[in-house]
Amino acid sequence: MYVYIAIGSNLGDRLENIKSAIAELKNVSGITVEKISSIIETAPAGGPPQGKYLNGVIKIKTEILPRALLNILQNIEHRLGRKRKIKNGPRTIDLDMLLYGDSSINEPGLSVPHPRMLEREFVMQPLLEIESGIMEEIGKIKVK
Ligand code: AMP
Repeated sequence: MYVYIAIGSNLGDRLENIKSAIAELKNVSGITVEKISSIIETAPAGGPPQGKYLNGVIKIKTEILPRALLNILQNIEHRLGRKRKIKNGPRTIDLDMLLYGDSSINEPGLSVPHPRMLEREFVMQPLLEIESGIMEEIGKIKVK
């Protein structure tokens, strides 16, 4: 299965945080990192006043199931020191599962495709950079 993951950071050494998250993902057995987008600097969207983000998107290949993959992403977020104190507040690292093959998932705590991805320039720009035909694939997803 091909899975697209959005990565963001606006605290500490942002580029180093993003590199560390990608390195951690590469270390997970059963995950192959296939593509990494350019990393772009973006203004924070919503939340309290906070610094600019670095954002990017990666494409991975894996057979790890969505829930287990979400756990892996959350473990990496915690290891890299993310504090979940303020809603939409600054974060060392944020990992969002954008797309999981052509699956549509709507469960407590897991929505795929990520509900707000299409309206987020900081997600769509790097996603389209690495997968220019992705809109056609998204169009094939049967929303549950
Ligand atoms: P955030 O603080 O924006 O990273 O949101 C994290 C919360 O979003 C977690 O509680 C996740 O369970 C939930 N969530 C729902 N869908 C997704 C998704 N596709 N990728 C990552 N987190 C998700």
